[in-house]
Formats: sequence, structure tokens, C-alpha cells
Amino acid sequence: MYAKLEKEDKAFLMNNYNRFPIALKTGEGSYCTAVSGQKYLDFTSGIGVNSLGHCYAPWVSAISRQAQTIGHTSNLYYTEPQITLARKLCDYTGCSKVFFANSGSEANEAALKAARKYGKSRKGEQAIEIIALKSAFHGRTMGSLSMTPQKAYTEAFTPLLTGISFVEANNFPALVAKITPQTCAIILELIQGEGGLNDLTDTYVKAIWQTCQDKDILLIIDEVQTGCGRTGTFYAYEQYDIIPDIVTLAKGLGGGLPIGATLFYDKCRAIFAYGDHGTTFGGGAIVAAGANIVFDTITAPSFLPEVQDKSAYMRQQIRKMPLVVSLSGKGLMIGIELAEHILVSEAVKRANSQGLLTLTAKNKWRLLPALNISKAEIDEGLKIMKKVLTDLEKEG
Ligand code: PLP
Repeated sequence: MYAKLEKEDKAFLMNNYNRFPIALKTGEGSYCTAVSGQKYLDFTSGIGVNSLGHCYAPWVSAISRQAQTIGHTSNLYYTEPQITLARKLCDYTGCSKVFFANSGSEANEAALKAARKYGKSRKGEQAIEIIALKSAFHGRTMGSLSMTPQKAYTEAFTPLLTGISFVEANNFPALVAKITPQTCAIILELIQGEGGLNDLTDTYVKAIWQTCQDKDILLIIDEVQTGCGRTGTFYAYEQYDIIPDIVTLAKGLGGGLPIGATLFYDKCRAIFAYGDHGTTFGGGAIVAAGANIVFDTITAPSFLPEVQDKSAYMRQQIRKMPLVVSLSGKGLMIGIELAEHILVSEAVKRANSQGLLTLTAKNKWRLLPALNISKAEIDEGLKIMKKVLTDLEKEG
């Protein structure tokens, strides 16, 4: 079965993914099973998407029920699940308005368009400059790609949007030096995900926020990977004592179905008028019905404190493992720096072969387990990781 799937994949799918030699068939909670029958413990959550694990029963019921009630309607009509989700996000967050899209890239496209419109309306036609960080990853559509300064992703697709400049993360003077009277927005991931699990410091983020306030620059926080409980609070930004002007969400919000959300705070509450922006599928009833379950589950009183406890436990155990140099990230977004001579892809490969799915982020070993993973499942995964690292250490 696997061989057939691999052959047909290679024959019929565009060659833009470097897949592991595993074909997954079923999933339940933190486990999934391949067509070969091999069972895997999943520390990837579909790259931070399946925040409540595979086939979370209340989510499955909600989307199935909604599919049997009404599915796609287009955004020409009101639908209850979408409106409820927007209200919950606004109530919880203090944002004023929500735009729903289908992915993180699209959520960032909406933020980018809003920033340009804001700059033009406040500072004049030329005020379309945006500052982003080196090692950022904001997506692969042309706008979001233009804010993603990584040659491997951009080289074949230039020219990109103009007016976007990049500065080294955690260097505040360098950022200030890039600000001009035409700067309309600064966009940040508080923990750079794809760029290598790099943490921004509290003082840096706070200083940027203050500067944005002083200079009427929008602060856009890309929480596509860090949002929806991943870092131990619903938004990572809650841990930095700032209030952004725009937040983008995707991945974990849908619990496995495609969604993106751009949250607009007070300054941008009326930024888009009819026709300024839109999407056919965004915030559809089925996806929104599932996202409502995800939201309710994650914001239930004991849920996030448990995520924080699990994070503390995992980090404590990982720090004791051989070859571990340092840890980054927050909550259950964990980056592990290994001794320099270790190829992190080798650690992932060996973990796969022992039944544990993990990720890389540049040169770090990256873990994004489901937020509702149990202590026993965590221990099972940690045991495999320890074995992988012990073996690698022995081999020198
Ligand atoms: N922003 C961040 C921080 C991400 O990590 C990603 C995807 O990994 C994106 C944006 C793009 O999201 P999508 O792949 O859903 O378009």
C-alpha cells in the first residue's frame, strides 16, 4: 500500500514537499497510524494545527453536525458559527473586529493590506513601508512572502513587494534606525517558528510596542504558530504585556480544518470598507463550528494552566538529556538546540523509526505536541527522545 501511494504521489502531485517515507491513515488523540500498521506518537500536531489531537471527539461532532445542517453559504449571508466565533475572539481578546480567511498566509495578507491602508490614511500616499525581522516566516503568498526574508523561499519568485525592510531580531537600535516617516507597520512573530524557534526578548518587544504607539505605527503580531494556547496563554503576546494593533491567527484555531483570522484592535476597527477585502471560503460554517469547540476547550479555566505544567515538566526532562545545549520557545512550542556536531534531521529520522513524530526548525529539534496530551504520552515520547540522543552520543 505504501509503495503504491508513494509512486502515485510522485506521479501526480507537484514536487514541492519533501515527505517522510510514512503514509498516515488514521488518528486518535496524540497517536496516528500509518498504512503499514505502525503506530506513531505525534509530537507535531500537523505543524501546530491539531491543537487538541487527532479527531477530537467534540470537534468531530461539531463539524459533522454542521455539515448536516448547512455547509458552505458564501460570505453574502450571515451564519451563526462564524459570528459566534468572532464574538468569542473579540470578547476574550479585546480586539474590535475579525476577518476570517483560510490560512496563515491569508491572515497576514489581510494584515498587510490593512497596514497599507492605515498608513496612507494617516500619513499620506507614500506611507506603505513595513519593517519585518530577519528569519521571519509569514507565509508563501506574494504579500506574506515579501515579509519572509529567506532566500530559499523567495529567490525564484522575485520581484516581491516593495517597501518592506528587514532587521536583525532583538536589536532595538537597528529597528529604530529603519523607521521612517513612511513606516506604517512593524510585523513580528514573538517566537520565530519556521525561522528556528528564536525567542524575542521581553524588553525588545515592549520597546517596539512603545515606539509604535509614539510614532503611530501599527504593531502586527503574527500568532499563526504561537497562538491558540500553544505557548501556554491563548496568545503569546499576553506574556509580553503589550496590546497589538493587529493579530493574525490560523493553524491551531481550526483544530485541523483550514482557517485564518486577522484580529483588528481599536485603531483599525474600521480599516476595511465594503469590497476592500474578501474570500469565498473564509470563516465558513463547518470550519467555524469546529473552531468554536477549539476555542471553548482551550479557554476553559484549567486548560492553559495544564499546558504550562506540561511545558515545565517536558522542559525539565529534556534539559537532562544528553547532547541538549539549550531550549527555546514557550509552552508546548519547544525548540531544542543540540550539540553542534549532531544533525537534527538524523534525530527526527531516528525518532520516526522508533514511533515518535517530531519536527525541525532550522537547526533545532522542534516539538509541537497536542495541547491536551497526557502525562503518560509525554513520558512515552520523552523516553524515545532520550534513547535517540543517548545512541547518538554513544556513536560520537
Ligand atoms: N506565519 C507563521 C508564523 C507561520 O508559522 C506560518 C506557517 O508555518 C504562516 C504564517 C503561514 O501559514 P500558512 O501555511 O497557513 O499559510
